[in-house]
Amino acid sequence: MSKKILVLEDETSIRGFVVMNLKRGGYEPIEAGTGEEAFEQLRRHPDIKLALLDIMLPDADGFEICRKIRANDPQIGIIILSARTQEMDKVTGLMTGADDYVTKPLVLSEFMARVDALYRRTAGGAPQDPGEVVQGPFRLNTRNRTLEKSGERIKLTQVEYLLVKMFMDNPGKVLTRGEILGAVWGREYRDEDKIAEVNIRRLRRKIEDDPANPAFITTVWNLGYMWGL
Ligand code: CA
Repeated sequence: MSKKILVLEDETSIRGFVVMNLKRGGYEPIEAGTGEEAFEQLRRHPDIKLALLDIMLPDADGFEICRKIRANDPQIGIIILSARTQEMDKVTGLMTGADDYVTKPLVLSEFMARVDALYRRTAGGAPQDPGEVVQGPFRLNTRNRTLEKSGERIKLTQVEYLLVKMFMDNPGKVLTRGEILGAVWGREYRDEDKIAEVNIRRLRRKIEDDPANPAFITTVWNLGYMWGL
């Protein structure tokens, strides 16, 4: 089965570099130079598992494209490729639904490690244990990776699903950012506190009654987070 990855990047030299290295890594890159082309390619290839999105594009803003792709497909993996390095952009990218963020110029080893890690998570290599976890108002189905709260389906990204699963597997236990990053993103992410924080903020918006005063995912000052009901 081909491992298709959408590459949305208008600078041909960078796109060429990314495409060449994805091919070497065993992937099938699907190229786009504009937002419109990207949506066209996604329509043509519904089996794309991962999307790499540049931010500065001739016809669109990458964050907006990210939001639209995510609204259509909660399961696809999304990595933002950006020349900007400001922390705010990273946060914006993650809040619009991206799973990860890589800055240009790309460092090849780091870039490929992150692509491989996210591809593994989103394409789901390992079979899931069958069954359900029910806690309080939540019902987590580990077979089809869905979450219901009080009978209503909550749309989760793959990363959000893994976060909820980790919390539900550890009720009442304080989980440090490092533990969460290590388990959900992989060992090489252990110092990326921002990624954990932003994803948890996004998750709270989906599952908490009042995200400003979270009742399920509580912050334990200076330590991390705890799942309680
Ligand atoms: Ca660009």
